[in-house]
Amino acid sequence: MVARSDLTRDPQLLEALLQARRGSAFFARKLNELTDADFDGASLLPGWTRRHVTAHIGYNARAIARLIEWAATGVETPMYPSPEARDHEIEFGATLSPIALRNLFGHSAVHLNVEWRDLPADAWQHKVKTAQGRTVPAEETVWMRTREVWIHAVDLDNGATFADIPEPVLARLLTDITAAWHTRGTDTGLLIKTTGQPAMTFGDTSTETPVIITGPLAAITRWAAGRGTNGVRAERGAAAGVTAAGAAAPTSDAVLTEVPAAPKWI
Ligand code: ZN
Repeated sequence: MVARSDLTRDPQLLEALLQARRGSAFFARKLNELTDADFDGASLLPGWTRRHVTAHIGYNARAIARLIEWAATGVETPMYPSPEARDHEIEFGATLSPIALRNLFGHSAVHLNVEWRDLPADAWQHKVKTAQGRTVPAEETVWMRTREVWIHAVDLDNGATFADIPEPVLARLLTDITAAWHTRGTDTGLLIKTTGQPAMTFGDTSTETPVIITGPLAAITRWAAGRGTNGVRAERGAAAGVTAAGAAAPTSDAVLTEVPAAPKWI
């Protein structure tokens, strides 16, 4: 079936799809701002050039499209045959010419969009498996793609920042990351508070004198995603003293000169 617009009528899902499409458009814009020679430049990811990032985003769209085909047909088609195959594909993709990389991104994004658009309403609840082995409803793929395009647009390192990422995306990202820490128990002694609006608290609320990480949502999320400490401050303090959202600046004697690295996320 070929539809002109999304077959789902679920308002929440339509909103999520909008966020993913905006992210993809944003990534496309940053990619367009790069000259062909710029593709050889370093990205924010250790060991990866912009070529790797672009190839990864292209192959990620194809991999997610495979999950949508799975949801539509019931025939199991994993994102990648194996983690090694995924890495290999990226390494290969990074050797493509800039024009081929631009086409890979453009075509794969359009294809994924069509797969989403034409997925029947009930199939969005069909179960598929992520590359990490999690079983999720097909609708989860929208978020999986959303965070990829927004974060890796920043990783292209040609001007995009976490402040460009819409607030609902940042909030969900920070929620995801801190939940992953919690599951692994790597957030012990770490309390995370966003200043300003929206004021949110994450991490270890049970320790008496945690290391408290504060900053605006965009800066905190950037730090949590392992991409720098600008705009973030760390202090050792009493958890009880900072429970008020967006509380006054911490006392200077408790401020740590160095913001600790965030626990690993993925
Ligand atoms: Zn990625």
